[in-house]
Amino acid sequence: MEIKLKNLTKVFPGNPAKNIPDAVAVDSLDVDIRDGELIGLLGPSGCGKSTTLYMIAGLKAPTSGEIWFGDEDVTHLSPEKREIGLVFQNYALYPHMTVYDNVRFPLTNLHVVSAQKATVLEKNAVLKRILLEQFDKVLDIILNSKFKGKYSKNMSARKLIKAYHITTSLAERIYKLGFQKITNEELAKAESLQEKINSLQGKINVTKKEEKKSELSIKKAGLEEELKAIDLKTAKEAVHSARVAKRDEVVLAIDEQSAAEKAKIESKGFTIDEKFYVLQNGEKIVSKRRLNKDEMDALIQETARLVQIDEYLTRKPSELSGGQQQRVAIARALVKKPRVLLLDEPLSNLDARLRLQTREEIRRIQQETGITTIFVTHDQEEAMSICDDIVVMKLGVQMQRAHPQEVYNNPNCLFVAKFLGTPPINVFNGVIKEGKVYVGEEAILSHKKLKEFEDGHKVDVAIRPEGFLAGPDVPEKERVLSLNVTQIQTMGRDVSLVCDSDYHTDENDIKVIIDSLIKVDLGVNKFGIKAQKTFVFDAEDDKHPRIYLD
Ligand code: ATP
Repeated sequence: MEIKLKNLTKVFPGNPAKNIPDAVAVDSLDVDIRDGELIGLLGPSGCGKSTTLYMIAGLKAPTSGEIWFGDEDVTHLSPEKREIGLVFQNYALYPHMTVYDNVRFPLTNLHVVSAQKATVLEKNAVLKRILLEQFDKVLDIILNSKFKGKYSKNMSARKLIKAYHITTSLAERIYKLGFQKITNEELAKAESLQEKINSLQGKINVTKKEEKKSELSIKKAGLEEELKAIDLKTAKEAVHSARVAKRDEVVLAIDEQSAAEKAKIESKGFTIDEKFYVLQNGEKIVSKRRLNKDEMDALIQETARLVQIDEYLTRKPSELSGGQQQRVAIARALVKKPRVLLLDEPLSNLDARLRLQTREEIRRIQQETGITTIFVTHDQEEAMSICDDIVVMKLGVQMQRAHPQEVYNNPNCLFVAKFLGTPPINVFNGVIKEGKVYVGEEAILSHKKLKEFEDGHKVDVAIRPEGFLAGPDVPEKERVLSLNVTQIQTMGRDVSLVCDSDYHTDENDIKVIIDSLIKVDLGVNKFGIKAQKTFVFDAEDDKHPRIYLD
């Protein structure tokens, strides 16, 4: 689903009596989000990210502007009608409910418009197909279920669901339709014969391993004798034909039930088409209704598999790790198959390791579903690592929107340059003189475009930590900027130099990252700078826009 924000604005009214001014949380935001894109809204606290997200969700009304989902103007649509999935920072799951019920919850109020189907006939058709194609496997699952009583039914059903990806109720029906008790005498006899053969063969195999012990070889001979006494070929045939007879009995029961159901529907004057839709005068009967148990179950199982929580469906949230709980929250947002997924700092409650893992998980889920996703975060690394595009915001205003690497390589203003990158970019006070940028007494770069500025025009010179050149290979004339190296921190592949300079604008240290093979001494060093890692911003304009020197 494509999303368009047009001139979107949100003003929280102040209180003149108490001298509280209006708060402009979001200011004339224009953003186009392509179908299937994962976009990050990134910015410091209070920049309007969450307010933007809540307007898209319909939880906050815009003061002005429009929100479009595809061709539909949703600006004034209620949240329920927007078909969005939302995951909050505090994704509070219901603690008293199982994971299954937590994921099911959003479905309980979901209405769907659908055509009436002859569901019994449809289910029976699936059932019959499975039985005819895979009868032995189905029977094995049920016979091998070690659980007795009511658990037997649940366990068998669960195994069937896993094996055939069918709904719970369908699995239960398979079970009920003839397997609950293997009443068929022939089959029971055949199964016990099969069991005996299996057990004899098993025992012989064990004794084979231990054959060296003489007393066991006598036992083995006895077992082999016993096995030989059974006519294996006839026994096998007996097992097979008993199973087939049982299968046919079950299939017949299904057919009889289907025929009765069909007759019931037709007696009302309806017909049934090949896809099991009930037709009245040749037309489908359409109605608005809630999802039934099977439909909910199918959605829950599918979503649970997608976010990989299918093993935990019967647990309570307290029995899950933080990362697993977060996945349940995502499943809950996705189960309704929303048009748009909105994530508001979804990883902030997780520890560092889980954050890393879960963000990759979010990316995978997003790519698998192809759902258009908006991800709000103040963590630049998080946004850079998973988003297709990022929108950097400051005080409600969009500063830059592009692919993360592009924003890093080509920041359009000082704010964006400073917001992205660890360690952060180093910013120096500079002035323009005769077409050159000076930092202190040193002319660090020149460009004909700089001649357009009057001498003395103030600029900010920002250089990425990896934008410095050092070592004997750098020619003297290219060494343009003096920095006082106060610490040398080795980081394996690279070395981080902590430096200071009288012209540095920030309180934190200057960080220079160079290859660990390059030797640098403490004290004042003259560095070269890489043009593509150096940006000049107009310090005399409040917005500190970039002066492009291409
Ligand atoms: P954070 O990362 O801290 O969640 P954010 O970027 O999501 O921040 P918002 O929550 O969107 O920021 O808030 C944007 C601005 O709007 C802030 O200055 C905030 O104080 C203000 N604001 C938000 N909600 C209200 C409100 N109900 N009344 C008044 N001002 C509000």
